[in-house]
Amino acid sequence: MNSQILPGATLGMLGGGQLGRMFTVAAQTMGYKVLVLDPDPGSPAGIIADKHLCAAYDDEQALAEMAEICAAVTTEFENIPAQTLAFLEDKTTVRPSSKALAQTQNRNVEKNFIASLGIATAPYVPIQRREDIAEVEKTIQFPAILKVATFGYDGKGQVPCDNLDDVYKAFESLGEKECVLEQKIQLEREISVVLARSETGSMTNFPVAENAHVNGILHSTTVPANVSAEQSQAAIQMADDIARGLGYIGTMAVEFFVSTDGDIIANEIAPRPHNSGHYTLDACHTSQFEQQVRMLCGLPAGDCDLVSPVVMINTLGDVWGNSEPKWDQLLAEPNVKLHLYGKKEARVGRKMGHFNVLAANTDDAMAQASRLFDAIHGE
Ligand code: ATP
Ligand code: MG
Repeated sequence: MNSQILPGATLGMLGGGQLGRMFTVAAQTMGYKVLVLDPDPGSPAGIIADKHLCAAYDDEQALAEMAEICAAVTTEFENIPAQTLAFLEDKTTVRPSSKALAQTQNRNVEKNFIASLGIATAPYVPIQRREDIAEVEKTIQFPAILKVATFGYDGKGQVPCDNLDDVYKAFESLGEKECVLEQKIQLEREISVVLARSETGSMTNFPVAENAHVNGILHSTTVPANVSAEQSQAAIQMADDIARGLGYIGTMAVEFFVSTDGDIIANEIAPRPHNSGHYTLDACHTSQFEQQVRMLCGLPAGDCDLVSPVVMINTLGDVWGNSEPKWDQLLAEPNVKLHLYGKKEARVGRKMGHFNVLAANTDDAMAQASRLFDAIHGE
């Protein structure tokens, strides 16, 4: 077993977005220093890090400097080139590994991997070229969704399709890049599991979260999720199997669909903390970001227990309208916790922050969260 990395050491973060920022806060709180690599000079994590290397993810000079300074390196973003992690792996501790990350960067590779574990996915067909489309009805039924295989997030690069003709048009509109065509599942709800796996293979998971999306972007997370104990156990077991199959070390998440038949179907893997785990910042003994620090440093996992029912609401750039949201409305409530990411420009669909509402039960938390979401609109 590797020796533990203790406070005082510098930890490296590939990517400077909000996930990197919340990792940085957690690490600094525990007494670590953080170096962030991100090409954006105003990146949310870069602006609060002890050191910000403002360089491209394939800049070998910057990566060599990072490896020199950092006792260990992790990531907040699955699209960091796997070669970047491989380059760093020769020089320092990197968690998760380049191999684990590579399995999650392409939707076809990821689905093949999940299916190889005997875990259900939505029926899917890889579409590499136009000719692949003619055969899809052998495997899937319409309606379906055509998704680009790489670099999609927050519902970007996805086109709903009702027939073959739609798929041809959608494939063209997506630039004939590698895609996956997925059968549309009749959803009862969506859930996710955030877990942490240590270098010795022990696993801890946060309570199952229930997620509601608007326009393909996460809007709210409710915990505890409204699912049976059996469904919850099944999702946790699948997430564990996926983490073990990847040989994963660190914090990761698996998104699931719950079909109207009650089946649990894996949607996708996030090799990092996840938006649906932001509730842990205020509602669990340990946050998903502290857990990421602990796994990176070879420390034992923190306690994942839920302290209070909670609803998390994302605040997208949409909320800004023509003026700053009315934060006073939100901050007036003593059971509500606001998290803003320090992004300068509020664009429609851009994740700017979130807030957690802690209450005696999830119905009360959701009622208050919905009221506040309306109250803060800047117009
Ligand atoms: P994110 O980054 O927010 O996870 P993403 O771009 O990776 O999003 P997906 O998770 O594949 O995209 O899809 C976003 C949402 O679209 C899902 O959470 C779900 O609400 C809906 N969706 C995607 N695929 C399907 C499907 N096969 N059946 C039903 N709904 C789907
Ligand atoms: Mg998703």
